[in-house]
Amino acid sequence: MTLGKSWFDSLSNLKGIGPVKVQQFQQIGIASIKDLLFHFPFRYEDIQVRELATILDQEKITLKGKIVSEPVVQFFGRKKSRLNFRLAVSDHEIISVTFFNQPYLKNSIHLGETQAVYGKWQSNQQNLLGMKLIKQAESDQDFAPIYHTTKGLRQPQIIQAIKQAFEEYFEEIPELLPHYLNEKYQMIPLAQALFQMHFPKNGEESKQAKRKIIFQEFFLFQWRLQLATQRQRKQTGTRILYDVEELKEVIQSIPFNLTTAQKRAVNEICYDLMADFPMRRMLQGDVGSGKTLVAFLAMIASVIAGYQTALLVPTEILAKQHVKSFNRMFESIGLRAELFVSVMNTAEKKAIIDGLHTGRIRIVIGTHALIQDAIKFKNLGLAIIDEQHRFGVGQRQAMLNKGVDKDSINLLQMTATPIPRSLALSLYGEMSVSTIDELPNGRQPITTVLVEEEQIETVYQSMADELSAGHQIYYVLPLIESSEHMEQIENVLEVSDKLRARFPNYQVDVLHGQLDKTEQQVVMESFGNNQTQILVATTMVEVGVDVANATVIVIQSAERFGLAQLHQLRGRVGRSNLASYCYLISKPTTEQGKARMQIMSQHQDGFIISQEDMKIRGMGDVLGRNQSGLPQFHYANIFEDQHVLEVARQEVGQLLKTPERLSEEEILTLSQWVEKQMIEV
Ligand code: ADP
Ligand code: MG
Repeated sequence: MTLGKSWFDSLSNLKGIGPVKVQQFQQIGIASIKDLLFHFPFRYEDIQVRELATILDQEKITLKGKIVSEPVVQFFGRKKSRLNFRLAVSDHEIISVTFFNQPYLKNSIHLGETQAVYGKWQSNQQNLLGMKLIKQAESDQDFAPIYHTTKGLRQPQIIQAIKQAFEEYFEEIPELLPHYLNEKYQMIPLAQALFQMHFPKNGEESKQAKRKIIFQEFFLFQWRLQLATQRQRKQTGTRILYDVEELKEVIQSIPFNLTTAQKRAVNEICYDLMADFPMRRMLQGDVGSGKTLVAFLAMIASVIAGYQTALLVPTEILAKQHVKSFNRMFESIGLRAELFVSVMNTAEKKAIIDGLHTGRIRIVIGTHALIQDAIKFKNLGLAIIDEQHRFGVGQRQAMLNKGVDKDSINLLQMTATPIPRSLALSLYGEMSVSTIDELPNGRQPITTVLVEEEQIETVYQSMADELSAGHQIYYVLPLIESSEHMEQIENVLEVSDKLRARFPNYQVDVLHGQLDKTEQQVVMESFGNNQTQILVATTMVEVGVDVANATVIVIQSAERFGLAQLHQLRGRVGRSNLASYCYLISKPTTEQGKARMQIMSQHQDGFIISQEDMKIRGMGDVLGRNQSGLPQFHYANIFEDQHVLEVARQEVGQLLKTPERLSEEEILTLSQWVEKQMIEV
């Protein structure tokens, strides 16, 4: 390595990359040489040389041969020109090649030389309409890379920059994986893999490169994850020594029986609470499986033991709902939860802040407002984070920092995308996992029906039936990002007017982002009390909202939603023993769209749905929006590459037990990498 030169250097070190280009590259997330090298093509143009007989008319292909005529340029009109030459593509086949309006190419065409040309085949004229002259260096490759780009940044400029980066920084590309693993799994060095990701000569090279990159991504993820766990395990935690009998009494007071899975989860959590290491546990369970109640019981255990507890949730509506249902269930036995959200007035906030500080308030439920500096707990022993994927690492850490003793606080996170045990082990590290794998007794599968707009009458009919049975309805409209706020609301208002006209005997209300938070809560409250029967809403009802009497959810333009989101939305119904219905109104125009709607009508299991979604849409797309709550990978796919993930997990586990296998330099490289790359854990 050259002293002072590193692949973390800014792009501006490359020739021809001035401040404007730096800006443009930044827009696609590229700041350093390293970022650039990891900016892989999203696809490759197939430039494998093909036999004439196999090429269709108008097909885009690459042909290679010997130039057998001097190039001729004819000019016509003011700026137009045609360049022509002949190419012998085999012993007995000579074709003509034409380039329009690129007369300067003439200088690159030399009689007798071998040349590859990419273009469109015109079979009648036996002519290749040239689109690109492929340079000697490239013409022994089968694929040409195509990159994601942005305004002002052209493909050739990206390619140029990448080539330059390889020329000048090849030596600076470190090897991150331990040598013996590269040997064991016969993986090529990183520098070579990166090069082959961009410029594979053939399918084999491309495969080799991907294999390395995927393994490396998983390995580094595991390395960080397991290191963090290892450190964490050494901490001593706040021991929550609650009175088991007292907790049992509380459970007795609940108006229904816990499911077996809920009981198991409560036991697992309580065991951790009592243990002398700080709990780090994930509670996973599909939508409607009853995670909240389990969380409440853990909170109560910690209160019984004399500690404070906090539940962090992503929306104010949800915070309010949780407070309400907590108090409805437990206030009569002397347990009261307080709300803390940003819309409260100063006096209300102050009362809570003081109460938490002095220890008078023992249970608080709130939004991210809870993690602000002003909030200090007397003795926070247990923090719970609902819908964990809605919070970033920083927010999570801020919550943990409020514990009696930093690092020692017990943490429970909740997720609605349950994943299989083996996968959970690899993704959540040694973080313990509790799974609620059954729905409360008597729950019926939600009947999911795909309908087109024209068949809306059947939907209205079903709505009418359910309304007259005394049940309630969600009617959800997509948020259309590009449209104006006003348009959005008009849309909501228009639909609600339509429904009012159609169902004059029922109350129809609207919920959308333009209402202020207090108004939103009033709307939710009256829906919760069944003062409103039909709620027309944008996606604000997506997360966690719990109104058991609602039995129908109609989702308009369903194709606009991600599957994880649709699954969440559908989970708003089917929260009691009543039969319930989900109508997906959509007219998917693509095969992909159709397939996605089919998945929704065929599956109710959130894990299967996210897996199928990824199969159809590809990883980045689904995880880009991160609605599934699963960790994100750039190049690897946790489903398709699950066995690689598993191998990486085991190898890292082994390594941490026998670190002497690594050279000092290897250890240094890895720890530097971990420092530079914040991989979410
Ligand atoms: P989620 O796992 O989606 O967060 P919730 O915790 O909101 O699910 O629970 C869904 C609904 O089921 C709530 O109305 C809750 O009160 C109810 N519930 C939870 N556990 C049980 C149970 N054991 N028996 C009956 N109903 C239950
Ligand atoms: Mg929930």
